[in-house]
Amino acid sequence: MAYPRLQLCIGGEWRSRPGQPVLNPLDDSVLGELPHATRADMEEALSAAEAGHRAWRRTAPAKRAEIMQRAARLLRERADTIAEAITLEQGKPKGQAKIEVLRACDIIDWDAEEGRRAYGRVIPAEPGMRHIVIREPIGIVAGFAPWNFPISSPTRKVAGALAAGCAIILKASEETPAGAWYLVQAFIEAGVPKGALSLLFGVPGEISEYLIPRPEVRLVTFTGSVPVGKRLAALAGAHMKPAIMELGGHAPVIVCGDVDPVASAGISAVGKSRNAGQVCVSPTRFFVDDAIHDRFATAFGEKAKTIAIGNGLDPATQMGPLANHRRVEAMERLIADAVSRGAKLLAGGERQGNRGCLFPLTVLSDVPEDALAMHEEPFGPLALIHRTRDLGEAIGKANALPFGLAGYAFTHSAPNVERLSDELEVGNLSINHLVASIPETPFGGVKDSGYGREGGSEGLACYTVTKNVSHLVTAAV
Ligand code: NAD
Repeated sequence: MAYPRLQLCIGGEWRSRPGQPVLNPLDDSVLGELPHATRADMEEALSAAEAGHRAWRRTAPAKRAEIMQRAARLLRERADTIAEAITLEQGKPKGQAKIEVLRACDIIDWDAEEGRRAYGRVIPAEPGMRHIVIREPIGIVAGFAPWNFPISSPTRKVAGALAAGCAIILKASEETPAGAWYLVQAFIEAGVPKGALSLLFGVPGEISEYLIPRPEVRLVTFTGSVPVGKRLAALAGAHMKPAIMELGGHAPVIVCGDVDPVASAGISAVGKSRNAGQVCVSPTRFFVDDAIHDRFATAFGEKAKTIAIGNGLDPATQMGPLANHRRVEAMERLIADAVSRGAKLLAGGERQGNRGCLFPLTVLSDVPEDALAMHEEPFGPLALIHRTRDLGEAIGKANALPFGLAGYAFTHSAPNVERLSDELEVGNLSINHLVASIPETPFGGVKDSGYGREGGSEGLACYTVTKNVSHLVTAAV
């Protein structure tokens, strides 16, 4: 089985260091050793980034796009090997891991092309005066990526920064490092200048507390939990750095009375099982109209029982283990609390076996609003079904939490869609399907789910600053 020998990448050079073991969540076996960056490594990554940024921002956008697209081609060629490593370290089935790798390639290709269109503006003015707005790369970016999407999440940051002409120092997840390692390897081989992209691992707090205050760093981008996001955003704010914060969600799914309860429950169960629910946009709180509630809940429970869990390298597996024991403990705590408050268990509910992190898709109905799981992001394979009388009640309950990342609805009614689009407090709303974003569309949250966008032209804009050049054409001076 392919698992790479992990190294840091600083100024285009690969380095080994002592660090920590990387575990397979299927059975807790050791896959490899992760190097930890020293203080000197971080300092060198920063000075290499200064040189890399100078070279990269002066590289023609078309040339930048060519290098980025070469990296995407290398990743496509290696997709099978990378997918296997992701399955080993993170747990998701290999088919889903391969989709993630190919999605990362699509993001790179799209960002590469969009980087060529970072247009400015000419503002109308009196004769002889020119006001020209230029969009420039913001500067060196410090990027922090999580463990749930080992390659596509780092790709959002790396591709966005590079497409805009910025250098980036990426601190990827210590628990699922191989995806980022393969990503950086492809970019280095494709010809990104030394230092324009560096890869660090280590103690997360040590790296963020070192990099964010440094004056060379001009933008912070983080994907992860709300509490850590608030800490990093505060640190960035204290040093006047803008930030992109992609934080947690607790996605509502509003199921209106005009849809087929069995079909919508089937789509929901499969959507909930994706990456074992460890997705910030995972559909979680199902507000189901009273008219179809019982049929929806029964069908959801039945479908959930058919989702095969096991080793992600087995082609029959539809849902792999959770990525770490913290998630198993969270599932057990949230389910026990909800059941103690009267929720009905329709499927799943208990960890499988006594090694590793296998946990089945779990469905609870009649979940009272005061259950912890209705407020705390489960970040695991837990679906909560709650009966509602009408759309107004469902929207009110959906908006009641401080989160506002993705939201979903099933309905065929144009007035319902109009109202949902107007009133749901989310950054991304999907109707009659459960895909929250594609490379072309802006992705991000409102409220505690964060700010800034990844993807789409809005995402690239976050990696640029505008400069207004005002030019009086005159012979008088
Ligand atoms: P956590 O809060 O300990 O860590 C979340 C992420 O932040 C991890 O990737 C971690 O390495 C990183 N991190 C932690 N402290 C940091 C610091 N001081 N500086 C820089 N990075 C730091 O939680 P966890 O147990 O790893 O993950 C569980 C929770 O994280 C979930 O409940 C979910 O809300 C959230 N999460 C969200 C996303 C997302 O896509 N938005 C991804 C992963 C995790």
